[in-house]
Amino acid sequence: MGTATKFMDYYARLRPCTDDHQCGCAAVDKLLLVHIMTASPVRCFACKGYVDPERLELTLQQVDAVASWDRVFGALYRLWLDSAEYEVWAKHQLLQSKGRVNVLGMEARDWLAQSRPTLYWWFHDTDDALPVACPWCAGLLSATERHGSRQCNTCSIVV
Ligand SMILES: [Zn+2]
Ligand SMILES: [Zn+2]
Repeated sequence: MGTATKFMDYYARLRPCTDDHQCGCAAVDKLLLVHIMTASPVRCFACKGYVDPERLELTLQQVDAVASWDRVFGALYRLWLDSAEYEVWAKHQLLQSKGRVNVLGMEARDWLAQSRPTLYWWFHDTDDALPVACPWCAGLLSATERHGSRQCNTCSIVV
């Protein structure tokens, strides 16, 4: 790796994120609500590309619900990634079924679902065994359609 590339890589951490890929599908039939650090959490289910809120004609309430949830999820997610004294606490919050972050997430999902069917990507630590039951309704999870490992078709959750 050349010196120039190396500098670019670490400087990128202090630069605005500009490398997100936008959905190029002719139509967006279904959405995926997933926290992706600095990128938009509203993704096309088919290609996982970013979907502009204007293209979906999202209302103020829909944008508010998604943005509020995304900030809270992001705060906890960063504390978990930090792997220090907040890690266990943050993971507990992210996994808690009726905890604040997931209540907000499911509300945001409900709002988006008024425009397109939407699946909410539930937090999962890849070091842990996959859940068998849905974290929201406790029903059995089914095989995944496209993203994650399993999903609940009743709650529209991907794990
Ligand atoms: Zn797409
Ligand atoms: Zn469920």
